[in-house]
Amino acid sequence: NKKRVVIVGGGFGGAATARYLRKFDSEVEIVLIEKNKEYYTCPFSNAVIAGMEKMDFIKQDLKTLSKKHNINVVYQEVKKIDGATNSVILENGQIITYTKCVVSPGIDFKYEKGYTKEGEKYSPHAVIAGEQTILLQKQLENMKDGGTFVMVAPADPFRCPPGPYERISLVAHYIKHNKPNSKIIVLDQKDKFSKQALFTNGWKELYGDLIDWRAAQFGGKVVSVDPIKKIVVTEDEEIQADVLNYIPNQKASKLAFDSGLIAKGDWAPIYPKTFESKLVKDVHVIGDASIAQPMPKSAFSASTQGKVVALQIARFLKNQEPINPPKLANTCYSLLNPTYGISIAAVYNAHDDHIESVQGAGGVSPDHDEGFIRELEAQYAYSWYKSQTEDIFY
Ligand code: FAD
Repeated sequence: NKKRVVIVGGGFGGAATARYLRKFDSEVEIVLIEKNKEYYTCPFSNAVIAGMEKMDFIKQDLKTLSKKHNINVVYQEVKKIDGATNSVILENGQIITYTKCVVSPGIDFKYEKGYTKEGEKYSPHAVIAGEQTILLQKQLENMKDGGTFVMVAPADPFRCPPGPYERISLVAHYIKHNKPNSKIIVLDQKDKFSKQALFTNGWKELYGDLIDWRAAQFGGKVVSVDPIKKIVVTEDEEIQADVLNYIPNQKASKLAFDSGLIAKGDWAPIYPKTFESKLVKDVHVIGDASIAQPMPKSAFSASTQGKVVALQIARFLKNQEPINPPKLANTCYSLLNPTYGISIAAVYNAHDDHIESVQGAGGVSPDHDEGFIRELEAQYAYSWYKSQTEDIFY
């Protein structure tokens, strides 16, 4: 009776699980189900939007996992996971049973205040990379000099806490060099954000007062939006954007809801030591869709969670006790321009009922640059991308 592990979602979380489960267990049958043949990474998609990199730079796929690592990659959309029968049901009707299932399906959006699925084509969010990335890049490229670029930044929790602020930095870099008469307004749905002091100091140093960031309580709060006309209404005024990058509030991917992995709220509850769902036995939820605070929703988090789950499942299949406590880690680099990088890092222990940050094992970039740190960290950002994707997809 051969054991089979089915992994749903071939992004950072799912691909890392597949790749590492194969390292830990050369025998087990691994099926990786992903709806798209190509995966465009959100990491470095901001560099594409600002014209620093091309789409090819952020393109990954699952071919090597299938050819070199004996992983059965199935390109289909999953309809739901049925915990009662340990089976994954595909949209085409096919059913695949599992011993263990790992789900890393990412996020979905809350369509509120007038923002709609249709509206994404006019006012892109660009937080699922691919078509949305190209759309925003083209809109920025085609914006008139003297135009207004408006970003609406979401309320917590959301995918990649520093992501919107890296994006606005690189948009400012593009505007400074290409459309210097333009304006940038950020309407934030919260009052503070990740690495805030490092970002705002860097903005002053690099861009003067080009970036007009408004906290929710000081004019940032959005009352309604017309994504087709690119008009945002705040409590104080109506703003006509030339480019509107509307990043909606977020929730776990539909698949997590349809599979009974969420009973209340927006995200899937898990037991942190194994990331097994609190609601459905033998199903492990990782990445953005899971509740894993204080870990941020990041590619790095998703991939270390994938590695931990792979290890715990490999041990389970050999009737061994789980590692206790498993270690998790995260680092997020952000670019403020091509040679100016900042970072945040943390290490965690996962216990039965909570995840604990290891004191003294993390932190952010220093406040003051001695003359080389920002430049080095920009290089580390690129190295991180290379090592992370090579580790997972190759
Ligand atoms: P995803 O990467 O979204 O993968 C989910 C996969 O599941 C997708 O391929 C999807 O097609 C598939 N899927 C979903 N539903 C189904 C279904 N029903 N059937 C079949 N397949 C399905 N993180 C960092 O660590 N560093 C960074 O520098 C960084 N930069 C970022 C910049 C931006 C602008 C953004 C938006 C995010 C950034 N992130 C970064 C965050 C990172 O992209 C996410 O946290 C990460 O992708 C989460 O991985 P995941 O596996 O949970 O989901």
